[in-house]
Amino acid sequence: MFPVSGPGYTVLVVEDDERIRRVTVQALRESGFDVSESGDGRSALEHLRSNRTDLVVLDIGLPDIDGLDLLRRLRGEQEIPIILLTARRGETDRVLGLELGADDYMTKPFSSRELVARVRTVLRRSSRDHRGRSRLEFDGLVIDGGTREVIVRGTVVELTAKEFDLLAHLASAPRQVFSRRQLLQAVWHAAPNWQAESTVTEHIHRLRHKIEDDPARPRRLRTVRGVGYRFEP
Ligand code: CA
Repeated sequence: MFPVSGPGYTVLVVEDDERIRRVTVQALRESGFDVSESGDGRSALEHLRSNRTDLVVLDIGLPDIDGLDLLRRLRGEQEIPIILLTARRGETDRVLGLELGADDYMTKPFSSRELVARVRTVLRRSSRDHRGRSRLEFDGLVIDGGTREVIVRGTVVELTAKEFDLLAHLASAPRQVFSRRQLLQAVWHAAPNWQAESTVTEHIHRLRHKIEDDPARPRRLRTVRGVGYRFEP
């Protein structure tokens, strides 16, 4: 386990509700994090462009930019871990948020202690992802956990963060069969009751188009009918 305590980590809290923002910022500061805050999406984007940030706590309901749009933009620009804050009834938002690459979510009202714990977990996970994973090499396919690059027959292929994680997860255990549910939990860190297994199907579909010679007859990413998927080395 990596010891993830506050010092050295910078967190940006984006939340227009002043009370929630104040309590969240205070809890994180008390745990030793270096915390910045934004009350709207535009200032958050500006802040992120000019300040090193290790994690963003992002409210979905913002006054100027929809939190999910902001998430989409951030995902297009950089790989900062993001924890979403959602309203109780925002099931669709949560699902969409996780599909867009959020690392975790908290449903309001939440305890600030729980939030601090989640922040630590996500930071621990992302530092392990970046430092710990090794390079996987197969005939005509390289998956580099250090640079997070995938190279197919000598050419770097552009993958989203989740596409990369999914491929790396499958390829790190060649021939082992994973159910969609197992993959949702391992790659999306989704709660057991999270239903959108089609997310996995869609990501496999996109991955096949990016790494397979013939996506209709995949050689690497094989479907195991009625069960799930496995990676063929
Ligand atoms: Ca709000």
